[in-house]
Amino acid sequence: MSPVTTTLTCIACPIGCALRLTHEGRDIVELAGATCDRGAKYAAEELIDPRRQLSTTVAIEGARSARLPVKVTRPVPRDRVLEAVAAIHRLRVRAPVRAGEVLLEALLGEEGLAVVATRSLGRVGP
Ligand code: SF4
Repeated sequence: MSPVTTTLTCIACPIGCALRLTHEGRDIVELAGATCDRGAKYAAEELIDPRRQLSTTVAIEGARSARLPVKVTRPVPRDRVLEAVAAIHRLRVRAPVRAGEVLLEALLGEEGLAVVATRSLGRVGP
């Protein structure tokens, strides 16, 4: 197998270094452009198992706000982000909710991948 060169923009911090990654299959032969170790870690993960953090909102009943902000407890596979968003948006939550409360476990069937509230919302009305 001959080496392949790919360019990536590191998203591990706002600087956004341009990475030049040469690899043979899943083996990294050379990495240029990373100005810190996080860039190398990002490049390796992007090559083998690319994932993305995900934050969104879900509908909530009985709160002063109609939407509750939520996030996932660990990054989801990049090619399943839309599927994850659709599953999260199907959730229906009732107030009260505490920040950090688990609203859905095993998102996408992955143990340990949960959806949690990032804000507390008290109950209003009946
Ligand atoms: S390589 Fe390091 S400095 Fe550059 S964008 Fe990635 S995390 Fe930031």
